[in-house]
Amino acid sequence: MVNAHCHLELSYLRGKIGRGCGFAGFADAISRVRHEASEVDRVAAAGYWQSRMEYDGVVAVGDICNGNSTFGIKSNSRIHYYNFIEGFGLNTKDFRFLDRVKSEAKAAGLTVSITPHSTYSLQDASFRELAVAGERLSIHFMESRAEAELFHGRGTLHERNVRLGADVDFMKYGSPTGRILASVPQDKELMLVHNTFVTEQEISAIQERFGERVTWVVCPRSNDYIEGAFPPIDLLRRCGVRIAVGTDSLSSNERLSLIDELKCFPSVPLEERLRWVTTGGARALGLQDRIGSFEVGKMPAVVLLSGIAWGDMDLLPEASTQRIL
Ligand SMILES: [Zn+2]
Repeated sequence: MVNAHCHLELSYLRGKIGRGCGFAGFADAISRVRHEASEVDRVAAAGYWQSRMEYDGVVAVGDICNGNSTFGIKSNSRIHYYNFIEGFGLNTKDFRFLDRVKSEAKAAGLTVSITPHSTYSLQDASFRELAVAGERLSIHFMESRAEAELFHGRGTLHERNVRLGADVDFMKYGSPTGRILASVPQDKELMLVHNTFVTEQEISAIQERFGERVTWVVCPRSNDYIEGAFPPIDLLRRCGVRIAVGTDSLSSNERLSLIDELKCFPSVPLEERLRWVTTGGARALGLQDRIGSFEVGKMPAVVLLSGIAWGDMDLLPEASTQRIL
C-alpha cells in the first residue's frame, strides 16, 4: 500500500489542534503550535507512527518535509519515502535553503524533490521557481473554498492575508487552476492533494494539460477533521482520473491508516478503493515498476486485510491491515 500524502514530521501534533476550526483557523493554529514540542518529542512521535505504517503494510509514502527531522528515521525504514521538500511563505523570496535540505536528504540516501506548497502560499516568481525546480510535484490544491475566493479578493484566506499584512501578486491568474495551468511546466509529474472543492471544468483543464502525469490525491479524514468537508469522489471517478489516497498529517487526523481512509467511501466498490492505495499510489510516486501490484520483477509487500463484510464486499468498522511479507 502507498500513502500518497503524509507529513510524518508533524506526528507530534496529534490531538493538539481541535476538530472543525475551519481552514484559515487551522492554518493559524498550526503556525502557533508547530514550535511547541521539543526535538526529542518530535522525533519520537515520527518514529512511532512510521513503525505503525510499516506494520500496517505501507511500503511507500509521499511525505512532505519542511525540515530534516525525519531523515534519520527514514533512512533506517523498510518504507520507501518520496520526500517532497516543500516551500511556502508569502513573505519569503529566497528559497535556497530548500536546496540544503534536499542535499541532506540525498546524503541520507532518500528520494527527494522540491515542491511548492500550494497556489495560495507563494508569490508568483517563487511558485514558478519551485515548480521548475522539482522533478515531481505535490501541491495542496482546492482544499478549501477560500483558496479560490482569494483570487477574487475575498474569503477567509484573503482576510488572513490582510490581517498579516501580506499582499499577493498572483490574482491575475483568476483561480488556483489558472495558476497551475500557467505556472507548472507541462512535462512535470504532478500530484494534486485534497481537491475537495474542485469542479468538473477544472479537472478537465488540468487533465488536458498534464494527462497521465497527474494524480488526484484524496485525504477524506483530514478534510472532515478540519472543516467537515468531503472530497468529490464521484466526480473524480466520473472523470476517469487516477486517484490515490493520503492520510495527511496527524495535526488533522487521529491515525495514519489507509484502511481507515478507505472506510470513508462505502459506496465505491472495495476492489476499486484498494486500487487507489496500491497501483494508484505507486504510479503517483513513479514506483509502478517496483510496487503496487503482483507482477514479475516487482517487490510489493503482502498485506492481510481483515474485517471484510463478505456479503456486500465492504469494510467493517473494525477492518484493519497487517503486513505479512
Ligand atoms: Zn498536507
